[in-house]
Order: sequence, then C-alpha cells, then structure tokens
Amino acid sequence: MFDTLSERLSGTLANLRGKGRLSEADIDATAREIRIALLEADVALPVVRGFVARTKERAKGAEVSGALNPAQQVVKIVNEELVGVLGGETRRLRFSKEPPTVIMLAGLQGSGKTTLAGKLAFWLKSQGHAPLLVACDLQRPNAVNQLQIVGERAGVTTFAPEPGNGVGDPVDVARRGIEHARSTMFDMVIVDTAGRLGVDEELMRQASDIREAVQPDEVLFVVDAMIGQDAVATAEAFRDGVGFTGVVLTKLDGDARGGAALSVREVTGQPILFASDGEKLENFDVFHPDRMASRILGMGDLLTLIEQAEGAFDQEQSEKAAAKIASGELSLEDFLEQMMAIRKMGPIGNILGMLPGANSGQMKDALAQVDDRHLDKLQAIIRGMTPGERADPKIINGSRRLRIANGSGVSVGDVNDLVNRFFEARKMMKQMAGQFGFGGGQRSAT
Ligand code: GDP
Repeated sequence: MFDTLSERLSGTLANLRGKGRLSEADIDATAREIRIALLEADVALPVVRGFVARTKERAKGAEVSGALNPAQQVVKIVNEELVGVLGGETRRLRFSKEPPTVIMLAGLQGSGKTTLAGKLAFWLKSQGHAPLLVACDLQRPNAVNQLQIVGERAGVTTFAPEPGNGVGDPVDVARRGIEHARSTMFDMVIVDTAGRLGVDEELMRQASDIREAVQPDEVLFVVDAMIGQDAVATAEAFRDGVGFTGVVLTKLDGDARGGAALSVREVTGQPILFASDGEKLENFDVFHPDRMASRILGMGDLLTLIEQAEGAFDQEQSEKAAAKIASGELSLEDFLEQMMAIRKMGPIGNILGMLPGANSGQMKDALAQVDDRHLDKLQAIIRGMTPGERADPKIINGSRRLRIANGSGVSVGDVNDLVNRFFEARKMMKQMAGQFGFGGGQRSAT
C-alpha cells in the first residue's frame, strides 16, 4: 500500500537535493508534482487541493534555518502536512469511567469488521483487558458463527443470540450483551454489527438504533483501504447515517493506491485509530499519523534526524563550516567541531540507522560495523595535535606523527590514515562545493 505514492513523493523531494537555493519556480514545480502524486494515489481532490496550497505557501515563506537547507525544509513541511492530513496526534481509544467500555463497529460488508473484532479483542486482552464480543450481525447467514470462530482464535468469549430464535433483534442482543458483560466482569464490549454491500438505508437505521440504545463510548467505522474513491463516499454516508467517533483502516497490506483511505480523516473530521494489514490476529496496530507519514515519504526516520540536527548545530557554526568547505580551508579543528556536533545527536549507528534505506539487508550489515570507538579514536588523534597542526595538517612530520600516536594510544598508521583521508575529503568537498554552488547565500529558501 502507498508504494506508488511513496515512490513519487520521495522522488520529487529527492530532486530538490543539492539545490542550494529554491526559486519560486522550483517550489511551483515541486507543488505540481506533489499534486499529481496525490491524485494518482486516489487522494480525494479537496484534500489534495488543501494539501498542495498549504505546502506551497509554507515553502515560499520558509524561515531561514541554520541547520536545514531549503530542500530539507520542504521535506519537513511535506511531512508535517502529511501528518496533519492523517490526523496529527495519535488518537487513543477512549475508555468509559464505568466499565464496560463499549466499542461498536460499523462498515460495509467485507470491510473486515468481523476480522477486526477479533484483532481488537486480542489486542485489548494483551493490554490486560477482559473483552467480550457481541454478535449483532443477524442479517448475514453464518455471521454469528464467523464471529464465534474469530473469538475462539483470539481466546475471548462471544455473546450471541441463542440459535433457533428466528432472526432476532440486534438492538436487543446488543443490550443483553452489555448487561452480560456488566454482570460477569468483562470491562470491554465489542459490538459487531451487520454490514451492507452498499449504502443501504434500512441497515443504516439498524446500526443507528443500536448506537442510540447502547450509547457506545466509541463507534468505529471500518473501511477497506482497497476500495478506492468509494471509501470517501461510504465514509460520508456512515457519518451522516450512523455517526462515528473514529476510523479503522483495513487491508493496508493490499497493493492498491490507498489514497482514498488517507482522505477519510480530513473528509469526515474523525481520527484514524487503528490500522490492519493482514488476515492474522497480530496484523493490527494503533495508527500513528507521524509514523505513517514517514513510511509514505520513505524516509525512515530522516525527519527525526532533521529535528535532532536542528538542535545540535548552531547556525553560525554551520555557516562557518560551509564557507570553509567552499574555500577549501576546512581544518581538522572544524572537522572535530562537526564531529562533536554529530555525536551530540547520539551513537553514530543510531544516527545512520535513521537514514532512508537503513533497513535494507546490505545497509544493516554495514551499520553493524559502525563503531563509536572508531570515532573516539579520531577525536583522540585530533586532540593530540597542536592548534597549528589542526589548522594545517601538512606541517605534521614523521616524528610528530609518532608523538601524536603515542600520546593518543593509537598506531602511526592510524594517524597517517586520518591525515590522508582528511586531505582527500577536503579535496572532494571543494569540488562538490563548486559543483552545487555550495557556500554563500545557500540558506535562503525563497
Ligand atoms: P466483514 O464482512 O466486514 O465482517 O469482513 P470480514 O472480517 O469477514 O473480512 C472480509 C475478508 O477480508 C476476509 O476474507 C478477511 O480475511 C479479509 N481481511 C480482513 N482484514 C484484512 C486485512 O487487513 N488484510 C487482508 N489482506 N485481508 C483482510
């Protein structure tokens, strides 16, 4: 799910990388590409319009920041807007002051309600609750039985109307189920209601009657993320017909575009509480807008890294370093300062682990090799040098190299290695700075 959107968005943002300054035309072009990416992913048009307009406006007025270049600022803005569309803060389940807490499920037939009832019960149980499933789908043959099977799998009790009592009244079953929970010490009740194939007034009224009768603490609208644009229309119909307090996205493991599901929060104004991404009981989790946004942007925890960088580097220091890189005057002293700023952000393996692609097999192996002790060694060597030597490592002769090595507890080979690599890096940075126009005026976002 969201693969295409993810690819397009991260591709668009990657195009900005290396640009020292973003012109108005750059921002317009980026906004256009974001718009196409969202529309292609099936995000509802009004949501797309709002998203693009806000992103564009914020990118144009972006504050000059010491730690972030303009491209990183745009990434940050897009991420924040995405988190906003997805609901902002994680919305937790609301519990009743007096047990049992009643959660009613509503949604189309096939949306995954019954499966979800089992997952939710299983999850609540793992959190120390005692949930009871109540089978109020008396419409579909076999629905009660299906819920009982799901309940057994989750290891929870199901309350169902006695067989042979005709069709039965779902409102009555719901009431009795809650009464049963109260008298037998279940602290949570999950009411599964009849689904419908399409929006059907009669069934909508039934769900609304159940809601009226049992006054649930939460009414969760369950929506299959694979149904495309219909998700938005269905959500609107349930909002008007039954009303709900939260949304559950199911089938996020499917390969559809999924953008419609991303629109449900903004279109209905109700938060997404849970997401389900598979048929197994464990394929279920609390929905975190921020984590979903960074998953869509395909940037690992790059955004956390950006935030930490904002805290670790001060503007003056970064500008000084950038200017020195551009002029080829970077000294080992500057190198030491930068290294210490990076290390303020945490162990180097963690920092690198936040970069996109860090979860790939190859990268994981490489990260396992990264060792803070290596950096400790580099710092010790630089500290063993005189200020003059740090400013111009060319003056460090053979006997000084031996002294530095002995003083910092490393071999002469280690010192030689550092000095040689520093010269190479400085040369490369100078070339790159020339290529990207790095240094001087690169901090302006307009
Ligand atoms: P209900 O009619 O709303 O109760 O829907 P069901 O719970 O019976 O689910 C309909 C179908 O979707 C079943 O085959 C489920 O196994 C499947 N299903 C439910 N949730 C998920 C999910 O998150 N991922 C996948 N791939 N299938 C799911």
